[in-house]
Amino acid sequence: MMHLGRWTTGPVTMWKGVMVAMWLACALPALAETLSIDGDSGQFRLNDRIEYRLDGTRPLEQVVQQEPWQAKSDDRVLNLGFTDQSVWIRTSLTIPGPLRQQWFLVIPYPLLEEVDLFILPNGQLPASYHTSREKTENQRKQAHSYEVALPLPRDLSGQVTLVLRASSATSLQVPVELWSEDRLLNHFSRESLYWGIYFGILAAMATYNLFLFLSIRDSAYGYYVLYIGSISLLMLCISGAGSAWIWSGEPLLTRYALPTSTALVSLFAVMFARSFLKWEEISYRWERSLGITAGLAGILIVYTWLDPTNGALFAGLLGTLVIVLVISVGLAALRDGVASARYFVLAWAAFAVGAALYLLSVFNLLPVNALTNHAMQAGSAAEVLLLSFALAHRIKDERARKLAALQRHQLAENQIRDLEIQSLEQAMHDPVTNLPNTSMLNQQLQTVISREQTVALVLVHYPQVKDIASSMGRHLAEEMFCQLTKKLNHTLAMLGGAICLETRQPAYIAIPEFGSAAFIVELEHLKGRLRPYVEQVVGHHEVSFHTVRLPVLMNLHCGVAIFPEHGDSTEILYQHASAARDSSAASKVPVQVYSEDISGFARRRLELLTALPSAIEAGELELYLQPQMTDMGRELVGAEVLLRWHSPRFGPVPPWEIIEIAENSGLMDLLSRYVVAQSWRTMQALRERHLDITCSINLSVQNLTDRHFIPDALEGIREHGIPMDRVIFEVTETSMMHNMESVIGSLLLIADSGCRIALDDFGTGYSSLAYLSRLPIHELKIDRCFISQMCSNRNDLEIVKNTLKLARTLNLESVAEGVEDQSTVAKLDELGCHRLQGYLFAKPMPVDEFCRWALRQTADESAGKGR
Ligand code: C2E
Ligand code: CA
Ligand code: CA
Repeated sequence: MMHLGRWTTGPVTMWKGVMVAMWLACALPALAETLSIDGDSGQFRLNDRIEYRLDGTRPLEQVVQQEPWQAKSDDRVLNLGFTDQSVWIRTSLTIPGPLRQQWFLVIPYPLLEEVDLFILPNGQLPASYHTSREKTENQRKQAHSYEVALPLPRDLSGQVTLVLRASSATSLQVPVELWSEDRLLNHFSRESLYWGIYFGILAAMATYNLFLFLSIRDSAYGYYVLYIGSISLLMLCISGAGSAWIWSGEPLLTRYALPTSTALVSLFAVMFARSFLKWEEISYRWERSLGITAGLAGILIVYTWLDPTNGALFAGLLGTLVIVLVISVGLAALRDGVASARYFVLAWAAFAVGAALYLLSVFNLLPVNALTNHAMQAGSAAEVLLLSFALAHRIKDERARKLAALQRHQLAENQIRDLEIQSLEQAMHDPVTNLPNTSMLNQQLQTVISREQTVALVLVHYPQVKDIASSMGRHLAEEMFCQLTKKLNHTLAMLGGAICLETRQPAYIAIPEFGSAAFIVELEHLKGRLRPYVEQVVGHHEVSFHTVRLPVLMNLHCGVAIFPEHGDSTEILYQHASAARDSSAASKVPVQVYSEDISGFARRRLELLTALPSAIEAGELELYLQPQMTDMGRELVGAEVLLRWHSPRFGPVPPWEIIEIAENSGLMDLLSRYVVAQSWRTMQALRERHLDITCSINLSVQNLTDRHFIPDALEGIREHGIPMDRVIFEVTETSMMHNMESVIGSLLLIADSGCRIALDDFGTGYSSLAYLSRLPIHELKIDRCFISQMCSNRNDLEIVKNTLKLARTLNLESVAEGVEDQSTVAKLDELGCHRLQGYLFAKPMPVDEFCRWALRQTADESAGKGR
């Protein structure tokens, strides 16, 4: 039987402090009540039976004599907060007989550094028994103790007073309990189990992540391991396991280890957060905060060794700050979409809850109980596990990120490859027809040349394609050109004999430029029938316009050069095939095979070109006049001015050739200025001979697009005193459609001046009626090709009829050129054509001859009228 009584001395002064409460599991009996310990739990709490005074520096003798003591009647744990003072506590017991088993005075708060126990029989000095924490731990008579457990003498009986002195480097809490040996051993083994599990988890996580760190060398793992190390140290202090197992007998070590480990925890928590939460958009503010906090923690580690009491307080405050900071950074990362931050925040939240519960109990704001005692332990275990999970998740994340980057890289590479293929395709193909271009043709030509195969290079040119593009739009011309090339390719595929340039979409032709095509023919298979073969291939050149739905026959020039006969390189073959093609254009023979003559032709072209400017200067070029008649060819009304060049060196050069050379070499302005200047002189001469007729002067499109040419020409007319309405400018239908914007300005200038405009070669171009009605033209000149056979060809007759009808509708004069026989005159008169021009009346003549002819004509005419 043990009787517990209450000391009834007066109130004890409370020195200072913050209090933590601890509810005891069982209520203790009231004052002076006798308690039976038979069948009890072997544990008594004396928290409501103690008196205390914060007077630890005084010796026991003084303290016992002195009053007042602070009485404590509630069940809470005596909590004096952070203080470096010692506290004296006393309580009295009545023990009726000797104790049957060993009892201990237990203070279940391991952070006390020094504890002394004195037993005073009947509350009187001197003490009959004295022991201390250091002494018991050094003697190690009982099991390893997580708490401070001081053995009571076995022979204790009667009225005794227990006087305790305790001090702590941290919060001074002194729960006072009596435990039987069984209870103590039970408790120790249970705590050993808990802490064993706890440290086991930490050790496992630390080991695992240490290996990860050693293999990956990612600092996050290193800091995590260091963090586990420092939290282990902290928990060893808090739990008492450190002093029980590791530094037993050195209770002072806890004083330093506790604040230091707290600061270390802060340091490594921040360092870990810094390397774990590395995301791209992390703000400078967060980075700096983490950096500063780490610095503070570092300083604090040193400081705690100098002043552990204040150091512990600061370390606690810094720890709180660190928890808030890392959770905030984690939340910021989460907001920026860092997936692994989820576990990071969760881990720190778990730790924060655990630490908060524990710290609140330390600061006496929550009761001390099993939950608050182990909250930190549970929270940090959960944290360590979650952080480990976060690290594992980060590996997964990183792998996913690397995989995504790899995929992006691959995608980019594919795109580049596609682009390369595409640009290679483009480099080898014509954009309009998608057929091979000259590069591919050259490659093939090179190959067959190197194999010494006998082949012919054929170049085909469709001159109308470009005209159509200018007059009726590029789109239509492209459509037509595609039709043409498709047909050509198809014909070559059907006939065989041509070399396939591309097998993917069997292509036999290449496109050197818009409006031209080229192909290579193997001569071995043709057995010398090259020309008929080429004629057969290019003969199918009828295309139909989508819009008009009319079949149109396309003119073409075709040049052929043979390997090895005409050249042994691609360049020479090209050059010679081009020369043959140009000669085809000049000679109106559709297919020209290269020969020495053609080479002579090309050479002559070059020589003509060089000779032309000086010939113009020298006045070698002459103007001829061809009469224009009305009234069935009886009355002379005008003349067309036509250019002639009788070169002493080249002989007569045909006007179309002069024009072609001038147009292609930029000499057109010089030539036309020469022609108009000569024309005005001629007209003056005619007027002097009383030949009051119109003169038609041919202009080239280059004259119309030049902004100065027409104003200068009109100025010339005025200077020569020629009536404006006697001058007719002839412009060809196709040239009119070129650069409509700049051409129309010149046309309007002519029309405004009172001069007239004739649309030459009408019917051979593709002028739209809509344009025609808007142009300031005065006459239509029906082309010679329709007139010459209109009496024998029904088609031509229809065209002439329709053209004349159109001229009437648009209120235009009509001129027929190429009138060579009387029946045509009769027919044209019947159809109402205004003027006639042709060899029937006269060929173009030099001016003097024309004058004589004209005077003879007028004489005849007046004679005719007179008859
Ligand atoms: P064009 O303007 O169509 O001229 C009419 C052409 O038809 C002239 O050829 C003329 O001699 C020819 N001709 C006239 N009546 C008949 C006929 O009954 N039968 C045949 N077979 N032919 C006839 P030419 O003089 O050889 O001129 C050819 C082209 O050269 C002209 O065609 C014109 O486009 C151009 N041309 C001539 N002189 C000049 C000039 O001074 N400036 C410009 N820009 N071009 C000119
Ligand atoms: Ca003409
Ligand atoms: Ca004409």
